[in-house]
Amino acid sequence: MKKFFIKVVCSLGIILLSYSPLISIAITDTYPEFNKSLIDDITSGKSEVFGKGKPFMFSFHSNEDSRWQSGGIDHTHQYLTSVAIKTLINDKGNKYENLIYPYAHKLLEGCDLPDIDETYPFYAHHFYNPYTNKNYLLGNITAKTKFIEHLNNAKDLYPTDKYTSFSELGRALHYLSDINEPHHSSSSPAFITNHVVYEKWADEHRTYYTINFGTMYDLCFSESFNKFLNVAADKSASNSYRNSLAAQELKIEPFGIYPLILNDSDSWCKSANRTMTYCEDMITTVLFRFFEEVI
Ligand SMILES: [Zn+2]
Repeated sequence: MKKFFIKVVCSLGIILLSYSPLISIAITDTYPEFNKSLIDDITSGKSEVFGKGKPFMFSFHSNEDSRWQSGGIDHTHQYLTSVAIKTLINDKGNKYENLIYPYAHKLLEGCDLPDIDETYPFYAHHFYNPYTNKNYLLGNITAKTKFIEHLNNAKDLYPTDKYTSFSELGRALHYLSDINEPHHSSSSPAFITNHVVYEKWADEHRTYYTINFGTMYDLCFSESFNKFLNVAADKSASNSYRNSLAAQELKIEPFGIYPLILNDSDSWCKSANRTMTYCEDMITTVLFRFFEEVI
């Protein structure tokens, strides 16, 4: 009986091993379609966040409680990247569907990873002030240096390991998105400003701020890759810095005989519109230039 049991277990093992390439091919083939609908869902404002370090296919979650701590996960990074992916495909054709969709789950997951495993010290390198070239703790490692570092990792890994390459690309786009957020370019950390409240508000209103086509492809030409990345980061930081006062605006309204201090949502709306659409436009251009480099 014991021998029979061992035989059965061995036979099952051989059968599973024989078919495992077929199983993995079948799963791999589902990636493009799954990812296409995933990106459609994210751009249309679906509330789930993809990934957060969980295995693929078991990755959706909607744990509201964990999102709004300082530096916590929200929808915004994946939203901005998904809008950019769709814009690039609309502008430049189906070639980019075939390049991106098989690996888009790694790209989207990578967009959030720096807020999970690149946080020390106090998220300082998620900030980049274009006028000091430093983070809010006055250190030299900034969102700009991390953006360039991860994009070069993505470029180097692309020929040999597409999954890790796309994950690195996602990490790079996380830092580019941070640079485009006004608090991150004006050295305004969460514990002394309205940083967290503004980001929560912007995230809730994210689907109002979207582009239909890219306008920055000209930035790609006649620059070395690293020069282009520097220009992309600096232009983004300058734009978001210009909108940093609007992102912190308050207004006073009467409440009976008392003045009431409220968040000025009209100003916040202007700031979010000018910076989030700029960010989507810039990510579109960065993706375009990335594929010019690697294919
Ligand atoms: Zn960040």
